[in-house]
Amino acid sequence: MKIVFKISALWVLLMFLSSAKTLPTYTKTDLMGAFNPESHDGFTAVSSRYSNQTIYMRKEAHEAFIKMAKAAAKDGISLTVVSGTRNKDRQVEIWSNKWERFKGDDVEKAEEILLYSSMPGTSRHHWGTDIDINSVEPEFFEQGAGAKTYEWLDANAHKFGYFQPYIKKGSERKKGYREEKWHWSYYPTANQLLKAYQRMVTYQDITGFPGAEYAQELNIFDRFVQGIPDLNEEYNGFFQVSKNP
Ligand SMILES: [Zn+2]
Repeated sequence: MKIVFKISALWVLLMFLSSAKTLPTYTKTDLMGAFNPESHDGFTAVSSRYSNQTIYMRKEAHEAFIKMAKAAAKDGISLTVVSGTRNKDRQVEIWSNKWERFKGDDVEKAEEILLYSSMPGTSRHHWGTDIDINSVEPEFFEQGAGAKTYEWLDANAHKFGYFQPYIKKGSERKKGYREEKWHWSYYPTANQLLKAYQRMVTYQDITGFPGAEYAQELNIFDRFVQGIPDLNEEYNGFFQVSKNP
């Protein structure tokens, strides 16, 4: 009797530990960028070979990026990270600068900022899974080295777990930011973070910058946080293949 109890208690403990390992838990702080990535255990600085700035990413996203950058280099494509984790404070700076500069009433200003920039607390750049590669100018990707880089990423990024959340709007993506050929996201972690975000973050959490009070009226969660293509099946498939290439 005693032995049975011990075994089952051990089994429960093991199950608990293994589920804790496979199901990461994220806090609202993680989801909304209210932390300093420098001192966050899950983050690491991007290798200086791939960025000339100090940029942080989640460790697993960084590891996958390095594999992708090495594969790209073999094909003559150079990948560098020009932006990675931006915490809420940084996003408040970006938002507030544009808010000061842009014209129109409050809602018009917010809509103009939202063509390319997120409301603080709603950016995928808070998550440590999303990076901007090589440039954030749309023109850069239209010809020459930029066009070749995009072509390579479009064909290969999925093998390393990366996808482009802000593809051209159309049947696969109906709403949200303008197309961003530079913005790539590490799906395995980002998808978990998105699910946690949908469960945990409410409009009451969106505060601390000019125009925050319009978040609900502007339908920010539905239009922008969810404004990415639905890739579940496709990407789960890729990961099974790409995990052991
Ligand atoms: Zn970006």
